[in-house]
Amino acid sequence: MAAEIISVGTELLLGEIANTDAQYISECLSELGIDLYYHTVVGDNVGRLTDVLRLAKSRSDLIITTGGLGPTYDDLTKEVICQTLGLELELHEPSLERMRRFFADLGKEMTDNNLKQAYLPKGCTVFDNDWGTAPGCAAESDGVTVLMLPGPPRECRPMMRECAMPYLRNRSEKVIVSSNVRIFGMGESAVEAILREKMEHAENPTIAPYCKEGEVMLRVTAAAKTAAEAHAMLPPVTDELCAILGDVVYGVDVDSLESCVVSLLREKGLTMATAESCTGGLVAKRITDVAGSSDVFLGGVVSYANEVKRDVLDVPERLLKTYGAVSRPVAAYMARGAAKLTGADVAVSLTGIAGPGGGSAEKPVGLVYVGLCLRGATYVKELHLGGKTRDRAYVRTLAAGHALSMVQKAIRNA
Ligand code: ATP
Ligand code: MG
Repeated sequence: MAAEIISVGTELLLGEIANTDAQYISECLSELGIDLYYHTVVGDNVGRLTDVLRLAKSRSDLIITTGGLGPTYDDLTKEVICQTLGLELELHEPSLERMRRFFADLGKEMTDNNLKQAYLPKGCTVFDNDWGTAPGCAAESDGVTVLMLPGPPRECRPMMRECAMPYLRNRSEKVIVSSNVRIFGMGESAVEAILREKMEHAENPTIAPYCKEGEVMLRVTAAAKTAAEAHAMLPPVTDELCAILGDVVYGVDVDSLESCVVSLLREKGLTMATAESCTGGLVAKRITDVAGSSDVFLGGVVSYANEVKRDVLDVPERLLKTYGAVSRPVAAYMARGAAKLTGADVAVSLTGIAGPGGGSAEKPVGLVYVGLCLRGATYVKELHLGGKTRDRAYVRTLAAGHALSMVQKAIRNA
């Protein structure tokens, strides 16, 4: 079955809102194993919507529309669909009754223009709207199925999941599931170079790389008759990818690098602290984004000024003067200072030049030192994160990622 989504709404074309309905429906269709080939966005315009529907009808078995089911003059999706596909609208009494009750519960009078929402294609399957007023529906014409869903995400999403998915489930012959292998510290092209042949030859499961904020993700997707069968096909492939890529893989089907660090700290019974200069608390922020991180994270110092590095973290003045704040020894002392100050088992520090200004030939933008102090022993890594396309935010995000990754690698064997 070939499906496509038509999102109706001029506000989508104007960039006022993002097409999150289409994204959500796409996820649902992939869960159902239905092949989705097109997303179209069209304004609230009879002529253009008609054209788009004609084209969709010629190439797809399943059309899902969002938006334009409301009561106002610009809500015309249902009317245009019926006109284009030769369907007849008729009053659906139970829907009218539901709408009357909906308004009565709100203590409001139902206005006449709402009436048109209760008109549905003759013989359609009605999707009751428990989250708003406009009912959705599934109608058939010449072997093409059209699903009409309301635009507001708080109505569209539950209607898709609770009404449309059960309706569609019976039509699909396969279930698609996927696993995500998460990578930090190796670029997309390097990952691809190692795995190109494997990815090209993989048919079921398939392997596809994605890039996201300095990270790479490999999505392994399996299709089978049942969910259990499909799920069983994933681990052999993800295990093999982990073995090939080694410790740049920080997790499989995990939320984030920081959530892995928090879990690992908890598992090992360790506590953590931070001392951050160029990242201004980003590592502490990411760790504390994880619910329950208070079990393992003691605190952090944002030591932006040299005086704070000296007075709070005990970095010797002499080192700051001789080597400068962005240096290997200062990073080491910062980490040690944070560990001492908080009593944490592991402390991580960052000092670097995030840019855009402030760099020199000797210490260019993107030079970052990450220090790690684990039970008294310190270790410092020098990073070069700068580049033409890398702005301040990117350098800071990458630096924080490296710090988290270093903590994870260090405590894995602790
Ligand atoms: P209503 O009864 O609220 O008019 P409707 O089904 O007619 O619902 P629209 O009028 O097209 O839907 O859109 C209503 C609102 O829903 C939009 O202003 C927008 O905030 C949101 N919306 C519409 N389409 C989308 C979409 N594709 N993705 C995300 N939000 C959407
Ligand atoms: Mg509307």
